[in-house]
Amino acid sequence: MAAKKTEQAEQAGQTERTKQAERPLPRFPEPDTAEFWRRTAARQLTYQVCDQCSRVVFYPRAACPACGGRTLSLQVSAGLGTIYSATLIRRAGHPYFLQRVPYFVAFIDLDEGFRMLSEVIHAADHTASSLVAKRVAVSWEEHSELSIPLFRPIAT
Ligand SMILES: [Zn+2]
Repeated sequence: MAAKKTEQAEQAGQTERTKQAERPLPRFPEPDTAEFWRRTAARQLTYQVCDQCSRVVFYPRAACPACGGRTLSLQVSAGLGTIYSATLIRRAGHPYFLQRVPYFVAFIDLDEGFRMLSEVIHAADHTASSLVAKRVAVSWEEHSELSIPLFRPIAT
């Protein structure tokens, strides 16, 4: 009995420690981005195209920022892109990211014509400036209901 209690306490302690270190995830309901996140569970990186003016739209939203059209079609990206700019994050205000510093964050120009902000992983042999113009591919970090799109450098 006492041994079981200790075991439970240890498990609870472990859960608490794990909880402190978890990546902050999107909170729902979130009408404009819910479908984007739902698709990430199937490792699909999606973007929108305006049915009225054909503009590529990212991040997901209810109306086209160019023409105001409210009919946007969801497309699936191949997840390949080129780094536009990058920086090395050395400080973090959240326990999860505190464990991860230093890490790279970059603006990535996806081949389909949209730019997104994400983390670049497996890049320890790079500097922020050497990452610029590097080709990258999406790499999924899986969670229970969704996945986080991260990027890794690829050989060209
Ligand atoms: Zn439009």
